[in-house]
Amino acid sequence: MASISSTRDAFLSGGLQNCNADEGTKCPICLEDLCSNNEQTVQIKPCKHIFGSQCLAAWLKFKNTCPMCRKVLYAGEPEVTGYGDVYVRGLVRQAREQLRDRFDDLAEGMQELVSRHRQNIGQSQERMRQDDRAHKERMKKIARWNAEQKLKIIRGT
Ligand SMILES: [Zn+2]
Ligand SMILES: [Zn+2]
Repeated sequence: MASISSTRDAFLSGGLQNCNADEGTKCPICLEDLCSNNEQTVQIKPCKHIFGSQCLAAWLKFKNTCPMCRKVLYAGEPEVTGYGDVYVRGLVRQAREQLRDRFDDLAEGMQELVSRHRQNIGQSQERMRQDDRAHKERMKKIARWNAEQKLKIIRGT
């Protein structure tokens, strides 16, 4: 797989493979740890350089080269043309940050939902305990009343 792919599609389907990053390896595009960012790591087969899959996918929209070694990966134009490497790197990083912000928002929202749910459960448990206490009170009253009635019958009053 040393020769360059004939088209972008051919490269995307045949020129990449999933791989596992070594502990502490950073994605060269976003500089985040490849092991801890919960993202598939992909390797460019011809040059063996590895990246986060989302970062590389975004990069390859603009570029037909490896972000690390500038090896030309396929003949023909990328999906979007006319941007410099630095600019594209910035775009990709920005997109990543937005994605992460959105994820953080989502995670925060979920946490709030969970804590509200827990509160609801706590409240309904409290209500159940109150209902239970009220029920026991009522039962005691009935028992007392019964006992009084029996006494009345026994006393003949
Ligand atoms: Zn990355
Ligand atoms: Zn490379």
